[in-house]
Amino acid sequence: MSNSNRIAVIGAGVVGGSVAFHLSEFGADVTVFDKNSAGSGASSHSFAWLNAFGKSPRHYFDLNHRSMELWTRFVEKLGKDVGLRWGGVVTYCAGSEGSQELLAQCRKVQEWGYAARLISREEFARLEPDMEIGPFELGVHTMSEGHVLPTKVAEACMDKVVEHGGEVHLNSSVDDISLEGDEVNLEVNGKNFVFDKVVIAAGTDSTQLADMASIKLPQRISPGVVARTAPIPPIIKNLSSLYLPPSDEWGNGIHIRQDHDGVVMFGAGDQENESDDDSQEYADSLIERAIRYFPALSDVEAIRVPVGYRPMPIDGLPVLGFAPEATNIYITLMHSGATLAPIVGNLSALEIMTGTKTDCLEPYRPSRFK
Ligand SMILES: Cc1cc2nc3c(=O)[nH]c(=O)nc-3n(C[C@H](O)[C@H](O)[C@H](O)COP(=O)(O)OP(=O)(O)OC[C@H]3O[C@@H](n4cnc5c(N)ncnc54)[C@H](O)[C@@H]3O)c2cc1C
Repeated sequence: MSNSNRIAVIGAGVVGGSVAFHLSEFGADVTVFDKNSAGSGASSHSFAWLNAFGKSPRHYFDLNHRSMELWTRFVEKLGKDVGLRWGGVVTYCAGSEGSQELLAQCRKVQEWGYAARLISREEFARLEPDMEIGPFELGVHTMSEGHVLPTKVAEACMDKVVEHGGEVHLNSSVDDISLEGDEVNLEVNGKNFVFDKVVIAAGTDSTQLADMASIKLPQRISPGVVARTAPIPPIIKNLSSLYLPPSDEWGNGIHIRQDHDGVVMFGAGDQENESDDDSQEYADSLIERAIRYFPALSDVEAIRVPVGYRPMPIDGLPVLGFAPEATNIYITLMHSGATLAPIVGNLSALEIMTGTKTDCLEPYRPSRFK
């Protein structure tokens, strides 16, 4: 263990929260800064589907898969209800279009040790009795997938950091980063703070913060829109989420989930679909598509959610590790941060505290941009 363990985490989202929580478990002297409230960034816009299905290459699939397996233990440690719901996901094709790809995808992840199976229409109907399945050609049940409420996770992490003796400064914007010898200075709301190590976990703002320390961290803009409802009685009985098939009328399919508190959330395409239309008309069109499958939504109002921006490294893969330009600044930037929060928090904290380099994070080093 390093003796220099005054560590700042910039950003209290689901990822920064998990890193801060795990650091505090390791006994670090942790201070978290967030310019707004905990979990108010991309984490508050997320569909937060915990999955590895469809993710590649193999090492990235494995990282997501391993993280899914850590979620239950992570939530037990947080000791709060953070909306974790398992049950798996059914993805299906209404006709032959796309069904060969879905079948191939299913076979591939089975070989990679993922709990995926073909599901018959009858079994699917038994799982979701209130659903109008409509035309059904081929369905895949990815059984170990779930979802979570990332803002609640981020808040629970902050509570734990404080419980472990750390400090959390909300509404506190980090406006400058400068390096002096072995130390890192942060200017926060006009005040100066000194740390031995700093973690940049500021989501889409990470690029700008990294630039202050001359660290190259290229991102692309990736807007995403979801819509939701007020709490309603359960319409999704057993699954965590569903991926409803594309149709001629609407184009791409929609993904839909229901939380324990009854809120239904939906988004177009898959969870990486890019759109910046956060109008009420768009939210209404999403619920209209869903009504065909869940008639109980007929009288339910769609609530628009403002567009969210995914933290999205330029090559789509996470950025994890100490920066080559500033070896006491650690970067955690990624899409799929909802899925990846437990493993990233755990392994980043290990690397920061011990100086170890974990093999499974090697493909994601910031040095690839230098
Ligand atoms: C529409 C949408 C759908 C998604 N669906 C999924 C999904 O299904 N599954 C999945 O795994 N992932 C999904 N994601 C991605 C996932 O939500 C993100 O990867 C994750 O939330 C990132 O968490 P974070 O903590 O890195 O960033 P954020 O949640 O953005 O947190 C960053 C924090 O940094 C703070 N900050 C920024 N600048 C400063 C500063 N200068 N000083 C202090 N604080 C600062 C912000 O206020 C913010 O709270 C989705 C994202 C979106 C937008």
